[in-house]
Amino acid sequence: MYRSYVNEDGLRIRLPSKIFNEILNKISKNYPNECGGIFVGKVDIENQCALIERMKMPNLISSTPVFFKRLASFLNDWLNDVFISSSGDLYYLGEWHSHPNGFPSPSSTDLKTLQKIAKNNNVRIETPLLLIVSYNSKVYDERFFIYSHDKLIPYDKQD
Ligand SMILES: [Zn+2]
Repeated sequence: MYRSYVNEDGLRIRLPSKIFNEILNKISKNYPNECGGIFVGKVDIENQCALIERMKMPNLISSTPVFFKRLASFLNDWLNDVFISSSGDLYYLGEWHSHPNGFPSPSSTDLKTLQKIAKNNNVRIETPLLLIVSYNSKVYDERFFIYSHDKLIPYDKQD
């Protein structure tokens, strides 16, 4: 079971439902604080599809409703392990975080973070993905974005 997303350029994302459910579980447990993690997987270039295969959250999170300490530095070791143990098959694709009591729209900080990630020499993907999940203790709403040409371009969820 997968959740699929597509954007106006025909780029696709495939996220295993199991990983999405795990994300919702973490978000509700951390509510009303923000939380987040990173995605690892690969890109199917022929089908223009990013295939997410694993999700990881840092152990040490500095989390408040308005501030979430960025993830990449905590997770460099784990990313190296995944890259080596998969013989370079799996690599960093992007990250996710929650917007408690908010909307699934990127803040100016989110844009700056993705700009930095795209420029990071340790990150192979030049167009990292961002998943934002809003949550207010009852309902959630999710939206994927791809960082490209200095913008965050949204995806639509496919049924
Ligand atoms: Zn955000």
